[in-house]
Amino acid sequence: MKLAGVVGHDRIRTILSRALERDRLPPALLLSGPDGVGKKTMALAAAQAALCETAPAPEPCGECPTCRRVSAALEPVRLQEQREEADRHPGEDEWRNLRLHPDLVLVEGWWLTRTGRPRPEPEIRVGQVRSLVTEVAGAPFEARRRVFVVDDAHGMNESSQNALLKSLEEPPPRSHLILVSSRPQGLRQTIRSRCQVLRFGPLSRSAVAAFLAERHGVPTEEAQLRAALAAGSLGTALDFEAEGYRSSREGLLTLLEKVEDLDALDRMTQAEVLEQAEDPALVLTTLRSLLRDLAALRAGAGPQALLNADVAGRLEPLARGPLGARAGALAESAAGTRGALRGFANKLLSFDLLVDALSDN
Ligand SMILES: [Zn+2]
Repeated sequence: MKLAGVVGHDRIRTILSRALERDRLPPALLLSGPDGVGKKTMALAAAQAALCETAPAPEPCGECPTCRRVSAALEPVRLQEQREEADRHPGEDEWRNLRLHPDLVLVEGWWLTRTGRPRPEPEIRVGQVRSLVTEVAGAPFEARRRVFVVDDAHGMNESSQNALLKSLEEPPPRSHLILVSSRPQGLRQTIRSRCQVLRFGPLSRSAVAAFLAERHGVPTEEAQLRAALAAGSLGTALDFEAEGYRSSREGLLTLLEKVEDLDALDRMTQAEVLEQAEDPALVLTTLRSLLRDLAALRAGAGPQALLNADVAGRLEPLARGPLGARAGALAESAAGTRGALRGFANKLLSFDLLVDALSDN
């Protein structure tokens, strides 16, 4: 993986490439920014460059045995094997420190508790960090450098963060720590202040659409729809299924067109239908995109500015009605409901409240 292969983020790529070329990669970096924009990919590309046998150079060569070994370890199948192996040892923290090369470790959080129960968010446990701290203090085995990438670093619990501080206070000369996080505020200030921070912004809509079309062969119209809905996240755009979206959207448009006439019982029934959808998160993303469009139309935007430009004809009358006046606030409620569902909020109750809010009752 080369730095040049990461979509967008030219300024960050330049900073990293220059540092690598001068053999001055900082001992501790924090790559922060929204999910799915390429932070981890950039971190791993920089790590590979630091280990590459042609280093110091602005990019990994991609050809030397070290580069080939790292690339092979990053194949999705191989990563999945390591994760599954870790899940067979739920009580042994350091199994989730995935070794991609003797001198390159990718630390991920655990989705399981020690007793094997699923967690709502992954957790990086103290045993992982202790093992990391020991390794960071050591000399490289084979390469010139050692790199430790900590994905979703905000998943470090209190004791993990305390344990990590030690490494950040006395960074050894040939080890590098790269923290990756979409929620850096979940990291202690003492950790953040010891890292050089590189902030990733969302990707532009056109960059996401071009990537989908050029590298994944997605037809232009669908690429634009996906890019519009992904809010600058390539990860979201790749996961997105346009067909599922369209059918979910049809149901929601029909609901919005009649929502003000529903009585209390109808509203409860509608909430149940939404709650039982195959992918409630997709329902909420879709609903939010429709409400955003209504708010935009109400504010005088033209149809070409809409996320759902292809159904502008059905959105326009809604935007002129009472729903249009409340659409901006409702879009935020839909986003809030989506956030709540990621925790263990009562799903049906959340949808009940949302449908009531839509109907203004
Ligand atoms: Zn190489």
